Amino acid sequence: MKKYILSIDQGTTSSRAILFNKKGDLVASYSKETKLIYPHEGYVEQDAVEIWSSVVDVINNVLIKANVEWSEIDSVGITNQRETTVVWDKKTGQPIYNAIVWQSRQSLSICEQLSKKETIIHNKTGLLINPYFSASKIRFILDHVDGAQARAEKGELLFGTIDTWVIWKLTNGKSHATDTTNASRTMLYNIFDLCWDKDLLEMFNIPAKMLPKVCSSKYDFGKLEYFNRDIHILGVAGDQQASLFGHTCFKPGDCKNTYGTGCFMLMNTGEKPILSNKGLLTTIAWTIDGKTTYALEGSVFIGGAAIQWLRDGIKIIKDAPEVNVLASSVKDNGGVYFVPAFVGLGTPYWDDEVRGTMFGITRGTTRGHIALATLQAIAFQSKDVFDVMSDESQIEIKSLQVDGGATNSDILMQFQSDILQIEITKPSCLESTALGVCYLAGLKSGFFKGANHIKECHSYQKTFTPSMTIEDANKMGNSWKKAVESARRFKL
Ligand code: ADP
Repeated sequence: MKKYILSIDQGTTSSRAILFNKKGDLVASYSKETKLIYPHEGYVEQDAVEIWSSVVDVINNVLIKANVEWSEIDSVGITNQRETTVVWDKKTGQPIYNAIVWQSRQSLSICEQLSKKETIIHNKTGLLINPYFSASKIRFILDHVDGAQARAEKGELLFGTIDTWVIWKLTNGKSHATDTTNASRTMLYNIFDLCWDKDLLEMFNIPAKMLPKVCSSKYDFGKLEYFNRDIHILGVAGDQQASLFGHTCFKPGDCKNTYGTGCFMLMNTGEKPILSNKGLLTTIAWTIDGKTTYALEGSVFIGGAAIQWLRDGIKIIKDAPEVNVLASSVKDNGGVYFVPAFVGLGTPYWDDEVRGTMFGITRGTTRGHIALATLQAIAFQSKDVFDVMSDESQIEIKSLQVDGGATNSDILMQFQSDILQIEITKPSCLESTALGVCYLAGLKSGFFKGANHIKECHSYQKTFTPSMTIEDANKMGNSWKKAVESARRFKL
């Protein structure tokens, strides 16, 4: 009897294996940390072999933990940290260099040399030229490993993002493939024509022979040869897109925000890509049955990290939950506005130089006001992204789905609903990323009959509805804008 779908979530700091049942309920999960390597200032790397062995480990362990037999597994879904780049030898399966992690800045100079091509690149990929994306990372590896360029040209080397690497290993090298969501983050994939882009490959001097085949997100990527099982990988998507799918954001205007260390907002924009002039990224949300859906994506650098700063920086709380105790000790923010621009501001300001600033402090200001202003700052920054999204897409966003550690703060969620003046819903299963590829794989296997069936299975634990008047919400929104403008004017 096939009872479960196995989702593999390979993230930046850990690999996880999660079992879901036919209703999409989480049955068991097992995770293992993976190490980050910092060989030089600004470099962030990982051992791709360690990533692979951690994946094997978590798969074996989740089955043991849940006392589940292989014969009970219907299919496998894979979701992954996006953009992280691996290049390996086709014959030996050995990586020729560490995996270069998405955060790494080591290929910055390659990007700088191409800055004049920004518009061309943006118009093909929906991305902004940045070392985040895989293209300059591949270039870096080919430049830094002796003889690599020639070997790549001969077809001896393969490139993959983490999904591709894990698929290749799980299928014992039979399948060298990725899905459109991951391909759309490489900066080599044309999101309009849906193919590897010749001009971009030329620009980065990357041989097409290295590249994986790009497939739909719901697709048969091959079977688990490594485990000697006739179980197939049927769903693959990059983490943020998987999360959008896991939140059942199937219609244009459906939007999700993840409140982690930073915040990641994605909105389904339907079947046409919308290019942004205000720094949002355009990306592929998923491809299903030959139909590609697009998304706009925006991020806030400092989300839950601002709460960590209260704990570790100024030490006014002992742990993250305490921020809520303090924040509920005051009736309002007492006029305090906090712009936590510790590393500059992202969408829509794109200001690297602005730094964190607190406004409106009086003798009456307490730790409570600062705690509340911090939670509000997370909501205000998310609103800035949200406003640009609805403005540029001309799509009205009617509700917001949420996940991530900071959604544990009811104060933050209620305030977010208040200032956006929309309903916010928190699903029962906060593992939206793993759930997204469970849904994709299950659609392919027939576990789930279609979008409506998934919607019926999907359940929610909490809803927040606006309790503030529009006038008050606008007033606070204006004060926030003034705070951001003032912070940006201050330069040492
Ligand atoms: P990431 O995936 O980026 O590591 P998580 O989704 O695990 O992030 O969320 C971690 C963040 O959630 C931390 O920055 C922490 O400050 C915040 N957080 C955790 N619990 C709470 C809570 N009860 N109230 C407010 N914030 C919280």
